[in-house]
Amino acid sequence: TESLAEIDPEVAAAIGAELGRQQDKLELIASENIASRAVLQAQGSVLTNKYAEGYPGRRYYGGCEHVDVTEQLAIERAKALFGCGFANVQPHSGAQANTAVLFALLSPGDTVLGMNLAHGGHLTHGAAPTISGRWFRAVQYGVDPLTQRIDYAEVERLARAHRPRLIIAGGSAYPRVIDFTRFRAIADEVDAWLMVDMAHFAGLVAGGVHPSPLPHAHVVTTTTHKTLRGPRGGMILTNDGSLAKKLASAVFPGVQGGPLEHVIAAKAVALGEALRPAFRDYARQVVENAAVLAAELAGGGAAIVSGGTDTHLVLVDLRPKGLTGKAAERGLDEAGITCNKNGIPFDPEKPSVTSGIRLGTPACTTRGFGAAEFRRVAGLIDRVLTALPDPVAAPRAIAGVRQDVAALCAAFPIYRNAIAAEG
Ligand code: PLP
Repeated sequence: TESLAEIDPEVAAAIGAELGRQQDKLELIASENIASRAVLQAQGSVLTNKYAEGYPGRRYYGGCEHVDVTEQLAIERAKALFGCGFANVQPHSGAQANTAVLFALLSPGDTVLGMNLAHGGHLTHGAAPTISGRWFRAVQYGVDPLTQRIDYAEVERLARAHRPRLIIAGGSAYPRVIDFTRFRAIADEVDAWLMVDMAHFAGLVAGGVHPSPLPHAHVVTTTTHKTLRGPRGGMILTNDGSLAKKLASAVFPGVQGGPLEHVIAAKAVALGEALRPAFRDYARQVVENAAVLAAELAGGGAAIVSGGTDTHLVLVDLRPKGLTGKAAERGLDEAGITCNKNGIPFDPEKPSVTSGIRLGTPACTTRGFGAAEFRRVAGLIDRVLTALPDPVAAPRAIAGVRQDVAALCAAFPIYRNAIAAEG
């Protein structure tokens, strides 16, 4: 059969260019990673052809005997990895997993208490443009202005005042360990469900370097593509059997149709990888690298939100450098360093500009970077950030950093045998 390059050179060329971008630039987007070739192979497999509505052993289609195997492997591995009784591996994404939980546990108009997006929460935790904010009464907590850590007293106050049916902990730009015990105590007091969305730090939980939310939360959601290093997708975990049944019918047929069995097979592969001892070393290195990055950037004069990090994520306040997030993202990108602008708590700039950037270590740690490389990366970032406000110095700094980035990427290659158009 003909290859992708022969059948569709335009798509093949764009994929090839994206492979080059991933190989030749430093990926510091905190929610991204570099999946193994085995994960890509499973995801690019013939399982994409298969309909399998239902669950293993209870399908609405014939011919499911092989996808039953891969889905059951994913389920068993998720349970083993996170030490839980039930795992639903069908959510197409993190947002779908969260939507399914809302659908399973709440009725429209019920109150949800989640973390404010502008303080590090996620859109699906009650932000106005999403189902969570539109079809439910969303109340939002944030961080303390001084410590920039979750204001647990405020969570408690809001919970008592609003009596939410569901409390959500977790976020997309919160660099600190969350006190799950405290959240559960608050949920119990007001008779609410507690959902922890561990999308960002799931790989750290898997690697044993971050507390697990499972002993505390009624339900845990996650993505599989961030620190967990799998294919893009979601999962829902719980220890409560009756909840597991409700969640299963909320995923299918509640909010989804046929599961993406090729993605589920890739989840099985990634979960298998995360069960190996090497993944614990990886997770430890991710956290160590983030601490190094935060300390070095602080040394260069940037402010680090909350003063540091416990995780893979560093939220940088650029105001001491005289820069906006927008300008920093663009300048760093020109230098070959990919990250995203991000609001900081109480940000005076609008969300399209911001005063911060969010950095993460998962992808470059997968490349093999250790503390020494991250010290170098921090130096490169600081060179760009320091030069950017000066129109004369900036282009020279960017050109110089681009060369150093190229050298670092060449020393730590990824996807060595071109796989752009595999399959
Ligand atoms: N939950 C959290 C905490 C996230 O950070 C994200 C992704 O940014 C999601 C959910 C949504 O995941 P997805 O993009 O797969 O829908």
